[in-house]
Amino acid sequence: MHKVIAIYPGSFDPPTNGHLDLIERGSKIFDELVVAILRNPEKAPLFSVTERAAMLETLTKDYTNVRVDTFDGLTVDYAVKVSATCVLRGIRAVSDYEYELQMALMNRKLRPDLETVFMMPADKYSYLSSRLVREVAQLGGSIQGLVPELVDQSLHARLDPAYKLRDLVVEEAKLLKRKPKPRKKS
Ligand code: ADP
Repeated sequence: MHKVIAIYPGSFDPPTNGHLDLIERGSKIFDELVVAILRNPEKAPLFSVTERAAMLETLTKDYTNVRVDTFDGLTVDYAVKVSATCVLRGIRAVSDYEYELQMALMNRKLRPDLETVFMMPADKYSYLSSRLVREVAQLGGSIQGLVPELVDQSLHARLDPAYKLRDLVVEEAKLLKRKPKPRKKS
């Protein structure tokens, strides 16, 4: 019997427990699962592709049939390159459905033999997105339980110095604005 290889493409900036939930489910139904990080030069990411790949490699090291890779260009071309016959995508809410359906049908038009497989995460992760995690973390909110410990630490390491620097700049600006009081003439 031939091996079924699937790719799981995305930005993973940063990887969340929702992504990991899907990776675990995918690893159970596919012989091989390639987590494929999109190298998107237009987006200014929080973590570089290398950093995201390192995080995902550590987080998936216990799955023997999961590997991490990066790609650019068309997803369908990348799928052919790694001999994948399936694309794994996550559906969180109805809002995901419209875009995902469009993309799946476009990919089918480009490559009819490539199947898109949708999986749902555990409901506790169904509202979770990398964008939301970034926004909450940037504003100092807790993201405990939503991302793996490793990602939480990386977010702190990335954002804390930026916040300290911002606070310093604000303080300095305040000091500079404070005009010296005119001296009374005696
Ligand atoms: P996002 O910013 O939405 O997390 P990604 O590009 O990293 O974006 O997502 C890659 C894939 O993972 C997409 O198919 C997306 O629907 C899916 N995904 C992202 N978060 C979750 C989640 N919490 N549960 C299930 N699937 C998810």
